[in-house]
Amino acid sequence: MPETKTPNAPFDPVASLAATKHTFGEHGGVNMSIEASTTYTVLHAAVMPEIFAGQRSPDHGGCYLYARHFNPTVYTLGRELAALEGAEAGYCCASGMAAVSSTLMQLVDSGDHIVASGAIYGGTHALLADMWPKKTNVHTTFVSIDDLDAVEAAFTPKTRVLYTESLSNPTLVVADLPKLAEIAHRHGAALVVDNTFCPVIISPLQHGADVVVHSLTKFINGASDLVAGAVVGSNDFIGQLMDLHTGALMLHGPTMDPKAAFEVSMRLPHLPLRMVEHSRRAQLFAERLLEMGAPVRYPGLANHEDHGLMKSLLNDGYGFGGMLSLDLGSRERAYRFMDILQNEHRFGFMAVSLGYSESLMSCSASSTSSELDDDALRAAGISPGLVRLSIGYTGAVEDRWRQLEDAVRVVGHPDNLPAVI
Ligand code: PLP
Repeated sequence: MPETKTPNAPFDPVASLAATKHTFGEHGGVNMSIEASTTYTVLHAAVMPEIFAGQRSPDHGGCYLYARHFNPTVYTLGRELAALEGAEAGYCCASGMAAVSSTLMQLVDSGDHIVASGAIYGGTHALLADMWPKKTNVHTTFVSIDDLDAVEAAFTPKTRVLYTESLSNPTLVVADLPKLAEIAHRHGAALVVDNTFCPVIISPLQHGADVVVHSLTKFINGASDLVAGAVVGSNDFIGQLMDLHTGALMLHGPTMDPKAAFEVSMRLPHLPLRMVEHSRRAQLFAERLLEMGAPVRYPGLANHEDHGLMKSLLNDGYGFGGMLSLDLGSRERAYRFMDILQNEHRFGFMAVSLGYSESLMSCSASSTSSELDDDALRAAGISPGLVRLSIGYTGAVEDRWRQLEDAVRVVGHPDNLPAVI
């Protein structure tokens, strides 16, 4: 059974990451080399059976076997991300969904039970609500993650995992990680946290989580040009994922291409700088939107119900993140708002995903949360007019503000709400 960890000295994700960035390339280059081989030689025939028997691994005897198992470049990125999160180990895979599904699959057996936040990425919701009950006989109870009594009450003797996002997609509810870890561990379950919205900002393992998953497709990679995922946790858990007989990553095979690993690794040094600027602009816009009386939601605002909680969880200096939302009251108004911002002002793009240099906006109920049925949307607090904005950092801030302000004046201001469309 996992034990709740007590936090030590304040964790510094950037210093921790920087300490890993001294991997020389094959020819002494300042960047690591891309190891493109899919298979690896052993110097003595007797070594190969030892690898298959699990007696040698990249960290024990220095042996690589086959690139769907460990690849050196992918493993280097895994170590960097483990350092960023303060984990013992990490490994990467082909997508965020591969990280989520493999992690959860590793932790449950047929007939087991998961307690999950009802406000999570639509794909994860579909996996747990629609696919797994039929395919795996693993059932999930969805709860409001901020209702700790409901979380506790949802546990059964078969519950193996408590699953949440650190900051929920798209409702921006902050998970009380220390309390959730305490509940999960009391029931002998693991706390798994999707930290896609808050890299650098929140370090869930430092607050008691057992495993952290990421969609690297978002802020961490930052260029909206590749799909990738990562899992970080204990040495033992990463070893389990790669086990030749029972490892969910090894056997389902959502392998990361080493070239993708190299690309992501090259962008990690400026991840903290990017997060600072995403947060700075989101905070500024949120404060000004609030002043206008616009229906804005952002955890950096004092009126957000989890503002104090987020303050207590975050690593100082990176703000409250780049995600904010506006509930415009109806889908039509949300669509008009996004049309104006993209097509009249060139403020950003109507597109799913997040963490890009440009601002991205989508109407969650009819896009990234459309896997949820009406009841689940209502329970999660995702209304039809909710627009999720991932605030980018291109363009002059004041130009961007004027564009946003204009669109809000047209469709988003409460005084205008009844009149529009
Ligand atoms: N987790 C969150 C919070 C997400 O927003 C997403 C995708 O939008 C995923 C996981 C899945 O990531 P990917 O698209 O990389 O598979």
